[in-house]
Amino acid sequence: MGKKYVYLFSEGNGSMRELLGGKGANLAEMTNLGMPVPQGFTVSTEACTKYYEDGRKINDEIQAEIYEYLGKMEEICGKKFADPNNPLLVSVRSGARASMPGMMDTILNLGLNDEVVEGFAKFTNNPRFAYDSYRRFIQMFSDVVMELPKPEFEKIIDAKKAEKGVKEDVELDADDMKDLVVRFKAFYKEKKGEDFPSDPKIQLMEAVKAVFRSWDNPRANVYRRMNEIPYDWGTAVNVQQMVFGNSGDRSGTGVAFTRNPATGEKALFGEYLINAQGEDVVAGVRTPSPISHLKEDMPEVYDQFAAIADRLEKHYKDMQDMEFTIENGKLFMLQTRNGKRTAAAALKIAVDLVDEGMIDEKTAVLRVEPKQLDSLLHPQFDAAKMKAAKVIGKGLAASPGAACGKVVFTAEDAKEWAEKGEKVVLVRRETSPEDIEGMAVAQGILTVRGGMTSHAAVVARGMGTCCVSGCGEIDIDEEKKVFTLGGQTFNEGDYISIDGSTGNIYGEAIPTAAATISGDFGRFMGWADKERKLQVFTNADTPRDAKQGREFGAEGIGLCRTEHMFFEETRIKAMREMIVADNVEDRKKALAKILPYQQGDFEGLYEAMEGKPVTIRFLDPPLHEFLPTKEEDIAEIAGELGVTVEKLKSVIEGLHEFNPMMGHRGCRLAVSYPEIAEMQTTAVITAAINVTKRSSFKVTPLIMIPLVGEVKELKFVKDVVVATADKLIEEAGIDMKYEVGTMIEIPRAALTADEIAKEAEFFSFGTNDLTQMTFGFSRDDAGKFLDYYYANKIYESDPFAHLDQKGVGKLVEMAAELGRKTRPDIHLGICGEHGGDPTSVEFCHRVGLNYVSCSPFRVPIARLAAAQAAIKYPKA
Ligand code: ADP
Ligand code: MG
Ligand code: MG
Repeated sequence: MGKKYVYLFSEGNGSMRELLGGKGANLAEMTNLGMPVPQGFTVSTEACTKYYEDGRKINDEIQAEIYEYLGKMEEICGKKFADPNNPLLVSVRSGARASMPGMMDTILNLGLNDEVVEGFAKFTNNPRFAYDSYRRFIQMFSDVVMELPKPEFEKIIDAKKAEKGVKEDVELDADDMKDLVVRFKAFYKEKKGEDFPSDPKIQLMEAVKAVFRSWDNPRANVYRRMNEIPYDWGTAVNVQQMVFGNSGDRSGTGVAFTRNPATGEKALFGEYLINAQGEDVVAGVRTPSPISHLKEDMPEVYDQFAAIADRLEKHYKDMQDMEFTIENGKLFMLQTRNGKRTAAAALKIAVDLVDEGMIDEKTAVLRVEPKQLDSLLHPQFDAAKMKAAKVIGKGLAASPGAACGKVVFTAEDAKEWAEKGEKVVLVRRETSPEDIEGMAVAQGILTVRGGMTSHAAVVARGMGTCCVSGCGEIDIDEEKKVFTLGGQTFNEGDYISIDGSTGNIYGEAIPTAAATISGDFGRFMGWADKERKLQVFTNADTPRDAKQGREFGAEGIGLCRTEHMFFEETRIKAMREMIVADNVEDRKKALAKILPYQQGDFEGLYEAMEGKPVTIRFLDPPLHEFLPTKEEDIAEIAGELGVTVEKLKSVIEGLHEFNPMMGHRGCRLAVSYPEIAEMQTTAVITAAINVTKRSSFKVTPLIMIPLVGEVKELKFVKDVVVATADKLIEEAGIDMKYEVGTMIEIPRAALTADEIAKEAEFFSFGTNDLTQMTFGFSRDDAGKFLDYYYANKIYESDPFAHLDQKGVGKLVEMAAELGRKTRPDIHLGICGEHGGDPTSVEFCHRVGLNYVSCSPFRVPIARLAAAQAAIKYPKA
């Protein structure tokens, strides 16, 4: 016998998620726990991988194995597939290793055809139910397997309802459903040019294929890239006996969490709908009832469910997100998983579970996704302004946070506007998985329909984006791009503010204020700090950034970009004078004007950091960036500088480079004009002397030379620095230390790091440039072609967002090793975007760097990521 690709639920268990997917593994686990789970089997993720290897085909052996397991399932269920007397109906459900909510599609009621449905109607003695199930199946199968758009079917239903003069689906009777089946099939034939497949076995195989195929659909690919889920994992398929929540008033379906996923409060939280099936709850078609009502509706079912929920939480030692269905008063569990939650809820639950003695602190640290903290670090509404603002409507508080922005009505508009730098709030009737990219860039999401477990709510919570859902008072016309609420009319571009913690909607812009780390957050971060080995620094160019970084726990500044200080009105002029100067004397004169500004800035930084390390990088960008490009600006600035227009133009022309990022920049500037390094050293050291003299702490400046590729160029610049610095320190009669180090951002520097380390006292990996130079494409231009690379599965993610561990990472590792060989106590770190990216931080921990440095708002994320890395890789 060949490899096993199919498993009964009773053959699996919770630890087999790689093979069975999360859903399959947990269905197996619940089965083993003796819980009421409709039985079935799981086609493994390996079968999915095989499907792609075989050129998108399910091979004969695997097909045979699936049918064999269908036979085993028939025995367990005591019903036969396609049996017109008492048919076994199944659902076909996708389930990847990591949960991908709403990304892949489920087909329900599979196994019906014109003949079987008749028997099913007789057997259940409920023709309306039988035909309702059938028409749902045709709809789902057509949509998921045959890609006939869902709304087309909705239109047919709406037409039927209009003919009958009714509003709700439940008002349609058995004959209406029968008629819908006829109309659906006619529509299918018209579009597909063939009859709807009537053989249930073919339906089944087509459905399994469709799930495999959906692993590669565009929204799954986008979701995976956003969540760094590898493409080669594949998805499993679960084939499960149907239970029917739509079989009458003693039936229903619902979703519940063991704790509140928005706040973390310890109480069963969820929603259900009577006489409904699967999708109805999450799709926001009807507004569901809170789970607490079930206690009154069906007390025994509620008690049983509450007991199961409690047991599952204790079993998994984490908050559970469960799906269930009630069929004629009998409860069935359809899914459980560790529930997605907001950052606030994640913190509260982690802290509560420790206090309840369920997990230890280390485990708690692993329970919060670092990226998620982002939502807690961003501004909240200014309390006073919010109080003064008028609430014009209220929806469900689906995902907390504050959002203020301009109204847009489609995900595409959200993307477009965000690209232009606009802050937008996406307002939709309801969202669907296609909207995911627009949702990701919106400040907040507001929907008219849908409950706390609607698509919008689930996805927004996952992204940490503010969301208010189900505000039924809104009267929206998505096509005309207008809505009214509370007597106010909003067009595209009008300001609105929404509060995802209360559900309040305001018809105006409300300013937002910064967040702080306290309470549960503070306690939790304390646990994280105990675990981590990496230091976390911040990138800061201004005292304000430095303070923000420290408030978020930064232990130093890993990168201060001095050029950012030059762009202010008053300073850029001196900078330009320096650039147009054609002799050393004039250049020095201009630099002398810049000196006091630089020195003042550095004093501010040192003061904000109170003796913690401050790393200052010398001038880095090509000089042309400081000069004007527009004709009218050139004329004006020439006037300001007291040079002729021709002269300025010739300077600009002289600075033109074919490839500025690889041109005259970084330490090359200091090699050509050592007086720049001299001035910057004077500013760094004098500021340090001044601050040390007047404070209780000592300043030890770290001077960082950028873009070094050869030890001799570093030595050349370093000599200028040392000569200048030592003289100043001696004159001041003070005992002060400073270090000179370098960025490692050119592959040659990494390759010769042993030599570079003879001069450099520390290395900071500038992984933006290092990535750019290693790949040979620039971050700013990569956007034009990366999509093709994703589509063709050449790259899975943007190497500027997540460090390329294979290539760029190899250089980092090599340079670290070579550097330490020369200078065992060399301090190694990374600055740039990757310093705040959790997987990149994990990499830095594994290769034994000393610190990461990132923007202030990512400092807590890096602290947590570093702690998780230390727990997962204790030996590094
Ligand atoms: P998703 O991963 O998108 O949540 P699921 O596979 O969980 O998709 O299916 C969605 C819904 O379909 C479930 O929540 C459940 O209500 C319904 N469903 C799935 N399988 C069955 C089944 N065997 N019997 C009844 N309902 C089902
Ligand atoms: Mg589900
Ligand atoms: Mg650089």
